[in-house]
Amino acid sequence: MADIIRLLPDHVANQIAAGEVVQRPASVVKELLENAIDAGSSLIKLIVKDGGKTLIQVVDDGIGMTDTDARLSFERHATSKITNAEDLFNLSTKGFRGEALASIAAIAHLEMHTKPENLEVGTHIKIEGSEVVFQEVSVTPKGTSIAVKNLFFNIPARRNFLKSDQVELRHIIDEFHRVALAHPSIAFNLYNNGSELFNLPKSNLRQRLVNVFGNKTNPKLVPVEEGTQVVNIKGFVCKPEFAKKSRGEQFFFVNNRFIKSPYLHHAVVSAFEGLIKTDTHPGYFLYLEVNPSSIDINIHPTKTEIKFDDEHTLYAILRSTIKHSLGQFSVVPALDFEKDQNLETPYAYQGKVATLPRVTVNAGFNPFVEKQQKSVHHANHSTKSSKGWESMYVGLRSEVEKNENLEGIQFESDTITGSIFKGKEAHTESSATTIQLRRKYILTTIKSGIVVIDQSRAHQRVLYENFLKHSTLKEAVSQQLLFPLSLSFSKSDIRILNEIKESLSVLGFVIETKEEDAVKVKGVPILVPESEVGIVLDQLISDYQDEVEGNSFSYTDMVAKTLCKTLSVKTGEVLDGTSQLALVNDLFACKEPMVSPFNKPIHITISENDIDKKFI
Ligand code: ADP
Ligand code: MG
Repeated sequence: MADIIRLLPDHVANQIAAGEVVQRPASVVKELLENAIDAGSSLIKLIVKDGGKTLIQVVDDGIGMTDTDARLSFERHATSKITNAEDLFNLSTKGFRGEALASIAAIAHLEMHTKPENLEVGTHIKIEGSEVVFQEVSVTPKGTSIAVKNLFFNIPARRNFLKSDQVELRHIIDEFHRVALAHPSIAFNLYNNGSELFNLPKSNLRQRLVNVFGNKTNPKLVPVEEGTQVVNIKGFVCKPEFAKKSRGEQFFFVNNRFIKSPYLHHAVVSAFEGLIKTDTHPGYFLYLEVNPSSIDINIHPTKTEIKFDDEHTLYAILRSTIKHSLGQFSVVPALDFEKDQNLETPYAYQGKVATLPRVTVNAGFNPFVEKQQKSVHHANHSTKSSKGWESMYVGLRSEVEKNENLEGIQFESDTITGSIFKGKEAHTESSATTIQLRRKYILTTIKSGIVVIDQSRAHQRVLYENFLKHSTLKEAVSQQLLFPLSLSFSKSDIRILNEIKESLSVLGFVIETKEEDAVKVKGVPILVPESEVGIVLDQLISDYQDEVEGNSFSYTDMVAKTLCKTLSVKTGEVLDGTSQLALVNDLFACKEPMVSPFNKPIHITISENDIDKKFI
């Protein structure tokens, strides 16, 4: 048999390697920015067009390259950053593989101007798909400018795979943030389609965070600082009250390199335990400095994951450092023995249901017997109804309330809400009976059996259809605010709000985004309480960032989903009888009462037949 193994030509090998390095425009941005940083630049400009599909240009004032280096930099495994394998274990630069420029040059049109400080003239090189088109002497300032045009021009499949310009720009901004946050002492600019998105002067870390995320960030920050032999930690965590429903601003940097680490993330979250609600996420910007020889950044091609020698110690140090900072800045409520301890229940425990004291159990209770409803109803006239969601008796409240012997007993928790049978509806013979089970489900009877309804999903469905109905009817759904709210946002957040502005207004938001770092909210949808507006908009921005990843969607649908998710009754909330009944009625008036807007089942039915079978 003839020999069949061949060496791939360089340009093919480079194209294959490019697949590892360059997934999308943002990957090019990352590599070029990192090269500019490695070159010791003090000002770095990033210019993009059409989400980076048409142009990505990085201009720096770093050390530049000689003409030979300029040519060599596009060869695969050409790097000035390491000379032997030992160096791999002592890296202080971002790059070291010598692959990025070769890979990018293989799949784009690339043009470079570069000049070291000590030379009179510089070099101008043009490369298209690994082919050098020309190289000439040029007059250019100190530093390097690399322009990458028409990414994936020779790999149509890849080009087609790219998302919309908006989505690609979002990824670029994320990458830009990561690099800019890791290097506050370097000035950065970002221009998109000719307009400036970010202008970040050289500054300290706190200022950099404010410049990137907007003025609202400053009061949220709690400084973190700790020096040990294993690691130096500095940076900020956000005060617990600013924890978000979505994971937004969570950044780890190790030796000034952005990394992802679920393990260290867990350490941070655990330091917040008891201070934030279980479904919210703390914000953090943490900078770890470790001995380069104690980490391995080689494990991931795009280098966002690294391996630590001693993860356990790091975990413990990080956790206690953050706890300490939160305590030191009196973010943690001080122990106060004057206060009623019941009011101080940490969030982590609030979701847990305590066992019912035996004395309240009434074995004879049957929620499905009509007669009892009546008596319960009467008993309830004297029951004090208070708003709240902490109850130890949920689901068994009806027993408690109808047991006259228990009157006068002081319950530990005073948040038992009104009777489940209260309200006008309960007066009529035909009215449905509802009962709340474990602050999660609502049980009601139908002719053929029992329906168990997930309260949160049901409410989501009701709100969702409500929002969409208003949007299609184009009714006046907005309530004007007497005093417009001014909320601060970062520029990129405002860009997102502008993007979905039309859908916001269809659903009833009246928002003005004239200012650079704040929006004026003049009107809100009827169902949105004023106090929730900030939370809703924050959630919208982060949903937009996640959702745009999906294939097809309409912004109006997305906004409606965010609204219903944010505003709906949650698992764990106590509903009084009127609310339970209203929810059940509203749900079954919906077009699609079966599934939630997120395609989850809302209710199940247990037929009398099913029940009968259990008793055989
Ligand atoms: P790596 O960064 O892994 O060394 P790259 O392909 O990104 O590999 O770059 C190859 C080489 O080109 C670098 O080692 C560096 O010497 C040079 N280089 C790239 N970008 C710049 C720049 N902006 N300024 C100066 N030198 C650069
Ligand atoms: Mg590099």
